[in-house]
Amino acid sequence: MSILETNAVVIKAQDFKENDKLIWLFTEKLGKIAVIAKGAKKNKSRLFSITLPLCYGQYVVFKGKNLYTLSEGRITSSFQGLLNNLEKLTYSSYICELIDICVTDEEDNRQLFKDFVTCLYLLNTDALDYELLVRSFELKLLKATGYGLNLENCAYCKKSITSASYINLSYYGGVCEDCTKEHGISLSKGAYSALKYINNAPMDKIYRLNVNRTIKDEIAKITAYMINSNYSKKPKSLEMLNYIKE
Ligand SMILES: [Zn+2]
Repeated sequence: MSILETNAVVIKAQDFKENDKLIWLFTEKLGKIAVIAKGAKKNKSRLFSITLPLCYGQYVVFKGKNLYTLSEGRITSSFQGLLNNLEKLTYSSYICELIDICVTDEEDNRQLFKDFVTCLYLLNTDALDYELLVRSFELKLLKATGYGLNLENCAYCKKSITSASYINLSYYGGVCEDCTKEHGISLSKGAYSALKYINNAPMDKIYRLNVNRTIKDEIAKITAYMINSNYSKKPKSLEMLNYIKE
């Protein structure tokens, strides 16, 4: 039996048997894992608060024959502020759902874990454009799972490009003026530059970007297409928000 301590966030939780919970942790050292938390359904349990969705902390788990079992944990941030605002709650549920859908079990990715926690911290502040922040997370996740966008070179002839008006969605890249525009989406030069900025900038620099609604929609269309077509399941968390906004 091996015991391991790691930073982690609860990305999903469900009741299990009479008193237990089954939780999914996105961990720094082990990637995404499913963990049994015995007795955690009772609110007197010491595991109760550390097994709530979005809780970020240090977790001690041990591995039995099949599943991991939660032994103890210490909260770093419960991110409860995210629960009081529908937009923040929807976006944070969405990025948890993305980890659930897009990341393979037990494949560690420390950079992605860091970006994920940074995204939750930034969603928990009041200073940012949450929508662009989430686009930034989507692009970092796509890159981390092998679908990174290349906006610096033409997807066909590989020549260096500073801007473009078309993205090929089979090769995940911009297309220069001379090459064929197919299997992709047209976009404005403004959207291309903004997308390039978001694709390259660290998440805490996204606030520097100021773009209009049309450009945001152009960017969202591209990331949504890439996410919906590259993984086995489509995320659903944003549907409610889009419905309310309409
Ligand atoms: Zn070209």
